[in-house]
Amino acid sequence: MKLFSRNIAIAILVLLVIATLYPIATGQLQQKETLALSELVSEIHAGRVKAITISGDDLEIRLVDESVRASKKESEAGLTETLKNYGVTDAELLPIAIAVEGPSGALFWAGAVLPFLLPFVLVIFFFWLISRQVKQANVQAFTFGRSKARVISPDNKKNRITFNDVAGADEAKQELTEIVDFLKSPKKFHAIGARIPKGVLLMGAPGTGKTLLARAVAGEAGVPFFHMSASEFVEMFVGVGASRVRDLFKMAKRSAPAIIFIDEIDAIGRHRGAGLGGGHDEREQTLNQILVELDGFEPHESVIVMAATNRPDVLDPALLRPGRFDRRVVIDLPDLKAREAILAIHGRGKPLAEKVDLHEIAQRTPGFSGADLQNLMNEGAILAARENRKSIEQNDLIVSIEKVMLGPERKSHILSPQEKKISAYHEAGHALVAASLPEADPVHKVSIVSRGRAAGYTLKLPVEDRHLYSKKHFLAELAVALGGYASEEVVFEELTTGASNDLKTATAIARDLVTRYGMSEKVGPVSLDEPHEMVFLGRELGMERTYSEKMAETVDFEVARFMKNAYQTALDILKEKRDALEAIAKHLIEKETIEREEFAKLMGSFGIRATREAGAA
Ligand code: ADP
Ligand code: MG
Ligand code: ZN
Repeated sequence: MKLFSRNIAIAILVLLVIATLYPIATGQLQQKETLALSELVSEIHAGRVKAITISGDDLEIRLVDESVRASKKESEAGLTETLKNYGVTDAELLPIAIAVEGPSGALFWAGAVLPFLLPFVLVIFFFWLISRQVKQANVQAFTFGRSKARVISPDNKKNRITFNDVAGADEAKQELTEIVDFLKSPKKFHAIGARIPKGVLLMGAPGTGKTLLARAVAGEAGVPFFHMSASEFVEMFVGVGASRVRDLFKMAKRSAPAIIFIDEIDAIGRHRGAGLGGGHDEREQTLNQILVELDGFEPHESVIVMAATNRPDVLDPALLRPGRFDRRVVIDLPDLKAREAILAIHGRGKPLAEKVDLHEIAQRTPGFSGADLQNLMNEGAILAARENRKSIEQNDLIVSIEKVMLGPERKSHILSPQEKKISAYHEAGHALVAASLPEADPVHKVSIVSRGRAAGYTLKLPVEDRHLYSKKHFLAELAVALGGYASEEVVFEELTTGASNDLKTATAIARDLVTRYGMSEKVGPVSLDEPHEMVFLGRELGMERTYSEKMAETVDFEVARFMKNAYQTALDILKEKRDALEAIAKHLIEKETIEREEFAKLMGSFGIRATREAGAA
């Protein structure tokens, strides 16, 4: 509707311009001095007129001195007659060359026709504008099937993303370089008869840069990039998704070489037939159409389909068959070096203070994804801007780490003195157990300032990126998770609801120990929880159990046993080191937070080594 009113405004403007220009244009464009008829007569009496040209009612008068004047005669009467009426004699007229000229062709016609035609032209123009509007609206209403893909053209230099904008992910980049080569010079590959993969599936946790990497491939190759999220295919009406897929592929083929990118493909690419009670027709049809299009590619078509997912486990096996998404690229969470590089990329164009040490920030952020790191840099910048500083300080970034991890601090959430005391002992319990068990991750910070949904928190970070964890580590983590619960029990001899989240975490760890890692002697080396899930409207409903009742009983028993043992470990530590627990809690009640160094010092005074070097655990 906005566009419509804008068009009316344009039409009115055009009208106004024409209205002002028209008289000027038809005003014969001449700036000649005009004479009244009486003046003309006196000029003739004086013998100064050399020639008169009549065209219509207009007179062009050429004087003896070669200057030109304009005048008009009466419409009905002839010129000589008029002049004679003014008392001009024949003798005076004789030396004057009088010529009659039809008004010049085009101008005459324009003058005659335009005044009638112009309104018509304007009206038609106006209706055309309106009808165009209506047509556009119709197009939107009747083209469900049209793919809504966004296209990034290679000419769009401003939005161009290359591998330089993607830090880390070296292996992924290396694999994708081959695709880039192919898109750049498809002939070279065809000539030698090489079969190029049609589909590339990017797999990785959310925020690891899958979308970014796909765009970078298009940017490197300089080909059009057709981008669509899988959920956008699916509309309310059955069949729309399939026709969108068809359109998208048609469009891409027309501008080959090109890349089609289907983001979050798990939205439609889930296991077929896993739904409850049908209702998946649309999704299935869309998926089928994608498969059909993939199979229908001719090798010479130079269109590569890329897709991204963070749930490769739920994808329909048909998608992964050879000839479809057979090239799989895994993107891991960034390691230390990559994190530093990503921070550097997102620090571009931001004024960083001299003392900023991105390496330290990278060290403090294991487990962060690229998106988290980008967010971190941004939060740092916001913090600096809010305090009207010209550059971002190291401290801004450190504060932002926690903000990204836990959500913003909620200083307004005021705890009653009793609640504060309970929170302090609770967190102190976590921290003390963590400090006492060498296999647990070291404590970075303890706080009772509520953050996001947590009332308080004990921040522990692994010393280094780790891929393998020992059973001892899990048992230690389990005890730490129950440390808060145990502390409340030891100190207050009753429990609050504050520990419910801890129990959930702890139970999850214990279950994993038993069913996924084979770390329970009773159950033995089996993996019990196959991801054999039932799906309903894209949501997991529950795991289908693939083992016997008896085994389930054993599992439950083992989980409970691990929990009890861990709880006992925590209780023992807290009882034995009650003085240290009191010290931490007291500090928390006073200052609300303890940082790593301070915590280590405090623990040192009780003979507990809270810090650990990399590689120790
Ligand atoms: P995904 O699609 O895997 O969920 P995105 O590609 O959307 O993740 O990444 C989100 C943002 O995080 C990107 O726009 C980018 O700014 C940042 N990012 C992620 N990974 C990287 C990386 N390796 N290098 C630079 N920036 C990254
Ligand atoms: Mg994405
Ligand atoms: Zn807790």
